[in-house]
Amino acid sequence: MSGQGSEELIERASEVLVANYARAPLAIERGEGCRLFDREGRSYLDLMGGIATVALGHAHPRVLAALEAQAKRLWHVSNLFVSEPQVRAAERIVANSFADRVFFCNSGGEANEAALKLARRWHRERGDDRYEIVAFEGGFHGRTLFTVSATANPAYHEGFGPMVPGIRFAEFGDIESAASEVGPRTAAILVEPVQGEGGVRPAPPGFLRALRELADANGCLLIFDEVQVGIGRTGTLFAYEAHEVVPDVMTLAKALGNGIPIGAMCTSERFSKVLVPGTHGSTFGGNPLACACADAVLAELTQGGVLARSRPVGEWLGRELDEMARRLGPELVVDTRGVGQLRCSAVPGAGSEVVGRCRDDGVLVIQAGAHTVRLAPPLVITRDELAEGLAVLEAAIAG
Ligand code: PLP
Repeated sequence: MSGQGSEELIERASEVLVANYARAPLAIERGEGCRLFDREGRSYLDLMGGIATVALGHAHPRVLAALEAQAKRLWHVSNLFVSEPQVRAAERIVANSFADRVFFCNSGGEANEAALKLARRWHRERGDDRYEIVAFEGGFHGRTLFTVSATANPAYHEGFGPMVPGIRFAEFGDIESAASEVGPRTAAILVEPVQGEGGVRPAPPGFLRALRELADANGCLLIFDEVQVGIGRTGTLFAYEAHEVVPDVMTLAKALGNGIPIGAMCTSERFSKVLVPGTHGSTFGGNPLACACADAVLAELTQGGVLARSRPVGEWLGRELDEMARRLGPELVVDTRGVGQLRCSAVPGAGSEVVGRCRDDGVLVIQAGAHTVRLAPPLVITRDELAEGLAVLEAAIAG
């Protein structure tokens, strides 16, 4: 059965998997650096990195070596014991961020779930009846009931109600709108420094700092969801660094394990104290295999020079997309947005058609909303590889 081609495998998938994803008709077999290969050996240039996740590229030697070495030693012990990879990964996050404490889990949704629960519990411990969460239109925070409740898109709520109570939505980028939603019951403000799924929308200058001031004046927590934009995606290890503002809680996932499932809720000593034994947990969270990979990813990003090399490439990518937009004109490209190596071209028609045409021509990109084509390549991508992909994208947009 393993010798079957893509078509047969896609057929089998359609018979046994829950059909909750709109999957492309593509069965990927292998990855190397910025290239993916299907079962027939066709090569695809990966400009989406498994949705902003494979930051170091496929089968990165350092991460692979860490995974293999750990796989021979220890896979799982639960959180009833200490294991070294978990400590090492946490130490790297603590050494390179505002955080003093890290709670490991398995996904971005879980990291945000932990952050929201922490915020509510922080106030309850102090005798404050604060439970409301102020989140933003266009945001995306996950698919657990709490995190999907904090995600404004009504399509994601349909049929799953009632949602978790106490969520309020403000306009992203509009501090007056945020201020009007924050009140005596607010436990936390939850925001993405750059909205990823919502269309690659960077927070306007000063917005995150204004949210910090608003949270301080109100006495609520400020949570940055860096699940998509953390771990170097925007050019700094953590996106908050570029805004000269420090959150109370930061959530990570996606690129933290370079594809191995892991999430993290990172906070200061002060707030972490409310999660005492028995309050919150995860069987797999902080799993030695996942943490060994996260440790290797963080080492490569902080000491391996990846960030320094990726920054100018991200800026160049932004300029190239702008120039492409100028060449194609406003009838074909409505807008280009983004930071670092998270970029997009907004098109007037269906983004899915552009994505499909790129795929047919051997380049993988993704949508971020109906009219947006998003690029989130491995951070190690070269200008030559990007130029090859951009030529295909331009032809695909031109139709
Ligand atoms: N938060 C943000 C900003 C995301 O982009 C995502 C996923 O796209 C999530 C949370 C949810 O992460 P996961 O799918 O790992 O649960």
